[in-house]
Amino acid sequence: MSNPRLQINCSKIAENSALLMQILKPLSIDIVPVTKVFMGHPVIARILIDAGATQLADSRIENIERMRSAGINVPIMLIRTPMLSQVERVVMNCNISLNTELSVIRALSSTAKKLGVFHEVIIMVELGDLREGVMPYDLLHVIKEARLLSNIGLKGIGANLTCRYGIAPDSHNMSLLAKLVTEIETHFQLKLEVISAGNSANLLWAFSSQNINNFNQLRLGEAIYFGIEALEKRHIKGAHTNTVKLIAEVIESNRKPSMPWGKRHHNAFGEQQEITNKGDINQVLIALGRQDVDPEGLIPPVGLSIVSSCSDHLVLESTGVPLKIGQEIEFNIDYVGLLSAMTSPYVQKQFI
Ligand SMILES: *Cc1c(COP(=O)(O)O)cnc(C)c1O
Repeated sequence: MSNPRLQINCSKIAENSALLMQILKPLSIDIVPVTKVFMGHPVIARILIDAGATQLADSRIENIERMRSAGINVPIMLIRTPMLSQVERVVMNCNISLNTELSVIRALSSTAKKLGVFHEVIIMVELGDLREGVMPYDLLHVIKEARLLSNIGLKGIGANLTCRYGIAPDSHNMSLLAKLVTEIETHFQLKLEVISAGNSANLLWAFSSQNINNFNQLRLGEAIYFGIEALEKRHIKGAHTNTVKLIAEVIESNRKPSMPWGKRHHNAFGEQQEITNKGDINQVLIALGRQDVDPEGLIPPVGLSIVSSCSDHLVLESTGVPLKIGQEIEFNIDYVGLLSAMTSPYVQKQFI
């Protein structure tokens, strides 16, 4: 394998997924694993299905098409409201999509009708994080209109919190969602099949809540891949935390001063970081730059600290023995790091 590379431990991911299903089953909550951080990689899709997932979700049509081409045939849900310019690809490849705009649902309907397929929608409700969602007072109107459309099924309603402003799911906003469900069911005399309450930031709420009432679905990415809930980053008991490592290679290792010399301007990225003079230090260059990974998402091994990063180099200081040229360094990685490294064509993906 070449470097840098992501080393992805498939059995740990499968075990985490099965564990979360087992924990949430008594609460009558189904998990829909979200594959976006792995760009819909078919290897990941397969291990999630083998671990018990009956459907998958992704935010990008490209990822979903990739899974379809690889023969993944479970129902797939698009979890970002479709672009008008992509509705044909959406109805061709996705069974369900999360939606917030009537004009998009109308386009899904006419395209589905033209192609002779059926498409289901989950209407997202705004609960205060101010990203996607219909305002609660508009919900009945949107649902009334959506129900009139041919080749469109109303699967349920849902919500998403925390991603933009960090607004936590709590008894207040979650009971509003529950109230809206009852209101819709009474008003239209129907039963909503899916109440998609949220993402990995809903787990503390789900674990602690005595009354989950009618919610029956969570869309989970981070919790499965990192073994943590996303709100306070607490470890989920029994889950693996380091399912993915980033491995990169030392290309220079020297004893150097910690203070630069010469007249100083901003660096290549317009930054001017503070420097403390620590005398001579063991400086290490790794062949890993911002074009490979967001360095903020990396956790170096003990004895090494990240001091700077450029397009192609990561600069580390070693407090232990000097490192050797060609030596491989294993970093732990968080969600931000994984998202960026998965997306970089320079980073090899190794599934073990
Ligand atoms: C990414 C995403 C998720 C999954 O989020 P995690 O925090 O990784 O669990 C769920 N819902 C929506 C709408 C998303 O965009």
